[in-house]
Amino acid sequence: MTPSIRPLIAGNWKMNGDGTMLAEAVAMAEALAVEPARARVALCPPATLIHRLADRLAGSVIEVGAQDLHPEPSGAYTGDIAAAMVYDAGARLVILGHSERRSLHREDDALIARKVEAALSAGLEPIICVGETLAEREAGQAEAVVLGQLNGSLPPSLAGRSFALAYEPVWAIGTGLTPTQDEIAAIHAAIRLGLVQRLGEGAGAAPILYGGSVKPGNARDILTLPHVSGALVGGASLKAADFLPIIRAAG
Ligand code: PEP
Repeated sequence: MTPSIRPLIAGNWKMNGDGTMLAEAVAMAEALAVEPARARVALCPPATLIHRLADRLAGSVIEVGAQDLHPEPSGAYTGDIAAAMVYDAGARLVILGHSERRSLHREDDALIARKVEAALSAGLEPIICVGETLAEREAGQAEAVVLGQLNGSLPPSLAGRSFALAYEPVWAIGTGLTPTQDEIAAIHAAIRLGLVQRLGEGAGAAPILYGGSVKPGNARDILTLPHVSGALVGGASLKAADFLPIIRAAG
């Protein structure tokens, strides 16, 4: 934890959830109204739920984010959604460069950097994901891969803007596996240095989230590590009973 940085706990619902999930999000918001948390909290539902979720959470402490956007502002891109549309639907944050998009949709650093630019133009706060595969970690390349993604995916225009970086080892996402405490601390320290080198001293204030099998049982150990200022949470963000203890673990 970096005491001067307010932690961000963001839930990534991925391709899960329909209208029946709205009640779960409202339950989370009600619990946080009764007992406020130190952390900033966001939920990133599928695109179909952004508008309804933003309506239901209006006036609560939970912000709404998207999971992706198209880099162009409009045009013949069937099935895609532009940054301004995402904002218009009620999102204020957007996850970009998630490993599932990097691998399943072949998104590369250059495309992610363009999406980050589009997000900033529309007034959205990007949560940019980086992370190594198991083979890369076993080959001793984790830090080099992550810093390479950081430099390639973060456009210089991010300097001075609000954003978060999420370190998500690919092999830890949805698997129940996590790196050791020392491994998380070491790579977060390297990311902090990399952010400042790329974007200047102001990037020292950007939250660096850990993501990958964060659960109520391991959240406190992870969130109290140096340079970890929040979490990007997949499976455990779908239920208030799991997500709330993670939010509380951030202080
Ligand atoms: C994620 O999807 O970003 C993620 C971290 O998933 P999980 O928490 O389920 O590992």
